Amino acid sequence: MSERSVVAPIPDVLPLIPLRDLILFPNLVVPLFVGRERSINALEEAMREDHLVALVTQKEAEEPDPGAEDIYEIGCVASVMQELKLPDGTAKALVEGQRRMRIVEWIQSEPYVQVRVELIDEDETVDVETEAMMRTLITDFERASDLGKPIPQEVLMAASTIEEPGRLADFVAFHLNLRVEDKQQILEALEPRERLDRASTFLRKELEILELGSKIQSRVKEQMTKTQREYFLREQLKAIQQELGQYDEVQAEMDEYREKIAAATMPEDVEEKALKEVSRLEKMPAAAAETGVIRTYLDWLIGLPWSSGSDEVIDLKAAQEVLDHDHYGLEKVKERILEYLAVHKLTDHMRGPILCFVGPPGVGKTSLGKSIARSLGREFIRMSLGGVRDEAEIRGHRRTYVGALPGRIIQSISQAGTNNPVFMMDEIDKVGMDFRGDPTSALLEVLDPEQNNAFQDHYLEAPFDLSNVMFITTANLLDPIPPALRDRMEVIHFPGYTEDEKLHIARQYLIPKQLGEHGLTPGKLDIADEAVREIVRRYTREAGVRNLERTIAMICRQVARKVVEGYKRKTSVTARTLHKYLGPPKFSYGLAEEQDEVGVSTGLVWTEVGGDVIFIEATKMKGTGKLTLTGQLGDVMKESAQAAVSYIRTRAKDLGIDEDFNEKLDMHIHVPAAAIPKDGPSAGITMATALASSLIGCPVRRDLAMTGEITLRGRVLPIGGLKEKLLAAHRAGIKTALIPKDNLRDLDLLPPHVRDELEIIPVESMDEVLPRALVKDCRPVLKKAARSKGSSKK
Ligand code: ADP
Repeated sequence: MSERSVVAPIPDVLPLIPLRDLILFPNLVVPLFVGRERSINALEEAMREDHLVALVTQKEAEEPDPGAEDIYEIGCVASVMQELKLPDGTAKALVEGQRRMRIVEWIQSEPYVQVRVELIDEDETVDVETEAMMRTLITDFERASDLGKPIPQEVLMAASTIEEPGRLADFVAFHLNLRVEDKQQILEALEPRERLDRASTFLRKELEILELGSKIQSRVKEQMTKTQREYFLREQLKAIQQELGQYDEVQAEMDEYREKIAAATMPEDVEEKALKEVSRLEKMPAAAAETGVIRTYLDWLIGLPWSSGSDEVIDLKAAQEVLDHDHYGLEKVKERILEYLAVHKLTDHMRGPILCFVGPPGVGKTSLGKSIARSLGREFIRMSLGGVRDEAEIRGHRRTYVGALPGRIIQSISQAGTNNPVFMMDEIDKVGMDFRGDPTSALLEVLDPEQNNAFQDHYLEAPFDLSNVMFITTANLLDPIPPALRDRMEVIHFPGYTEDEKLHIARQYLIPKQLGEHGLTPGKLDIADEAVREIVRRYTREAGVRNLERTIAMICRQVARKVVEGYKRKTSVTARTLHKYLGPPKFSYGLAEEQDEVGVSTGLVWTEVGGDVIFIEATKMKGTGKLTLTGQLGDVMKESAQAAVSYIRTRAKDLGIDEDFNEKLDMHIHVPAAAIPKDGPSAGITMATALASSLIGCPVRRDLAMTGEITLRGRVLPIGGLKEKLLAAHRAGIKTALIPKDNLRDLDLLPPHVRDELEIIPVESMDEVLPRALVKDCRPVLKKAARSKGSSKK
């Protein structure tokens, strides 16, 4: 680096450096980057001589090798104050403008440009007018700074101390970021007053732009919504408090709440409400008991999926694949579900009746619900309504209650995290009702597509939109569902499975699933089909497959243990080895093998767990005509037993029974499984048959089962749940079933092979029942009875 102060007369021949995008004024200092070869040579020449160069700006910044015509005529003589050679051959110099000059002759071009110059004298006298112009210029300059022009304070100060008008104009022009052409105009204004004038014009223009900018800004600010402004202020306050070390945890928490509320995308009124609660909380002393209540409330509001739902894709083909993949059979059910989805796809909303799956436990209601959710790409949630007696359980308690919470609906939705889950409500047949209110009305609102877009939870105090939720309810029995609810739902029956279906389900679904869950492979455990049948027949007695699955799991557990203990070979479970894993059979199968007995008839009942086969026992003993009924029978069933007795009394003679039996004998009817309460009229003909058998002294066929209500005159009335009952009969190995004639139409629902294997006889009256139910030997007696009845009719 070389440095030397310059106080020398300026020669009229100078090396020239053309400037690309820079204008230098006298008395001002700029750094200069010199890269072009001729310019570097010029700089070196200057350094060799008196450090003076002519600096003139090019007309076009892009011109690489400007000639005489490519540069402006007027420029500035500058002295090089410092020069620094850079490693890449270029140089950096600090130059100070000395005098304005005009180029009068282009002397040479190589190795550097050399020009002859003529210095320009400047008149710096100040009169009143120039003085005024100078003051205006300085004021405007300061104003520009006020309006946001980045002008350093010392520059402003310096400007106000300049006394020469021309120099002031140069100074101001230099510090405004004008275009190169504009600055050149100032440079070329040789008369100071004119220069002031031009500088002033440019500055004015600049001021106008600045003022416009600030106007626009203030308008934008006005448009900022109130909340934005509040947010802004609050952020500032936070920053200030943090700076002062006063930003405490409470404040941080409030800010966090506000951020979370903003992120929760609630409906506007709810958001307002939430923000109001935050403000209340903010003003409350931290120790106040209510702060906890408000916090919990806010947490609930924030946690709800107000507007976040799973992206749904309804692709019927894919949906069908999922349903088929997850479940064996259930064709009708699956079809109905696909129809439902198709309508949903066309109408684009979840209106329409709610699906209600009715069927015994373990028939796949829940798992089908899960599959529906999976096929739609939605979340699945489940909630049991069993034992819900209080409306508040559905709708929540008002916040004034201690420990109040939202109702179960809102809780479940919150848990799901999306506002369009598949929502399964189990046991809708077990909703109760008492003095605390009727949950049914709340459920009605939830399940009604017209109302549930603004579901009111007492705790939230804000409506929540449930209209995107796909509700599915389940029940074991249809009858106990309150009629108002039943009307709103489309019932889909799950009938229960036959033995063959269970075998398929076990083989294709349950066994692979349980093997997987127990870390086993088919290479380690094989359960033979016969073993599965044996489990179905003798170890489980159910309509669904829940216990079957549990039993398979039990086998898997034992095998898993063996494997861990080092057993290397494959375990094969057969019907014969089954007892090693499961113990002795729990149920007997094949009732046909059992003895026909006097006073024991086979009935078909319908319970929550599907259909079942029961044996009703009747005995007579010496007495006075008392009727004893045992086995926890409900009122309807007791009355039905009395009707059976009355029928037999009226038909005693025809049946060959002592007509006075009611005075000499006591009757006892017992319905086993004594611990389980039973009710309903459908055992009527079964009880009558057991009684008649006992009184006549003639055994009843064990392989024949029956169901039907009895009237005093012996008519057989229709009953419910026929399909489940017949499936149970088939399961139990019954050969013949007597059913009320009016139930014939229900047979359509029965799987064909069950119809083939089971002899189903429709009957209208007890007179048709007894000849079929009692064993062959007794039939002569009964024929007589039938004949006499026929004659009595005439
Ligand atoms: P529910 O809800 O009706 O009481 P679940 O849905 O809990 O019955 O079913 C019990 C088990 O039986 C589940 O593991 C389910 O996957 C299985 N299951 C029931 N039906 C079928 C079927 N048709 N195909 C395959 N698995 C089934």
